[in-house]
Amino acid sequence: AKKAGRSCFRFYTAAIQEKASRHLQLVNALRVALELQQFSIHYQPQLAMAGGQLVGAEALLRWTHPELGNISPAEFIPVAEDCGLILQLGEWVLRHAVRQARQWRDQGLALVMAVNLSAVQFRQPDLPALVARILQEEGLPASALELELTEGVAMYDPQQAIAVMNVLHEQGVRMSIDDFGTGYSSLNLLKQFRVYKLKIDQSFIRDIVTDPEDRAIVAAIIHMAEKLGLLTIAEGVETAEQHSWLRAQGCNELQGYLFSRPLPADAFAVYAQQHQPA
Ligand code: C2E
Ligand code: CA
Ligand code: CA
Ligand code: CA
Repeated sequence: AKKAGRSCFRFYTAAIQEKASRHLQLVNALRVALELQQFSIHYQPQLAMAGGQLVGAEALLRWTHPELGNISPAEFIPVAEDCGLILQLGEWVLRHAVRQARQWRDQGLALVMAVNLSAVQFRQPDLPALVARILQEEGLPASALELELTEGVAMYDPQQAIAVMNVLHEQGVRMSIDDFGTGYSSLNLLKQFRVYKLKIDQSFIRDIVTDPEDRAIVAAIIHMAEKLGLLTIAEGVETAEQHSWLRAQGCNELQGYLFSRPLPADAFAVYAQQHQPA
């Protein structure tokens, strides 16, 4: 048993070392990636339930490393958060997504640009000033920007988070809660959050057609949101059955592969041509 225990331990440390060296590799690669412009943004359509028009776009970061290939944001965002590079990277995404929204506006395509914000960015006292500066420099009205926050933003200091939301709200920026239902925020906090939309996490949407518990959760979120005067958007909608069930429940907006994958800007513009209100 002792022997097995030891080799098990060895295996365990090897796995940790491997993970640590990948982490280190990514930290180093991230540092140069910003300078070398290895990042790009894909945009995923957000559609109104009623009418099916395009109402928004979610900006999703993409990283193609010359040797490591495409690296998922689910892997590199946490690394960027650990080493502090998320601040630079987050500012890069915000500026470029806002610039893109402005360009589309100039071409007659008005939509809300949703940008993911890390809890680390949200903790910066100068965040509202940074957002205001970027909007002003890029010439986009605040009402055309939505910041997607996870419930984790409130983990560090709920009162500070609420104060920052109040300032952003006064500036006219919209805020939504991403991955709603998976985090820790209490209903009491939700009441104090200056958000206008809940993004129902895709883990609840996946099995809504077959799983009565997921159905109960999603229905409860939609109905609660309605009563609180908040909009709801379902993420990860992949099937027509999910779509029609969500419609019957009164969910307001939709996002998912059923409609479109996240697209490079030019492909998004083509998609938009076909889904604009007449
Ligand atoms: P998220 O914000 O929850 O984004 C939704 C994720 O679901 C995206 O993955 C999107 O491509 C994927 N998705 C959309 N529709 C479907 C669908 O119908 N089915 C399935 N299975 N997946 C769908 P992606 O682009 O890999 O991003 C992963 C996560 O990385 C994001 O989750 C977000 O937390 C983070 N992320 C991406 N870009 C940024 C960014 O610019 N800043 C920050 N802070 N985080 C980002
Ligand atoms: Ca998101
Ligand atoms: Ca999400
Ligand atoms: Ca997520």
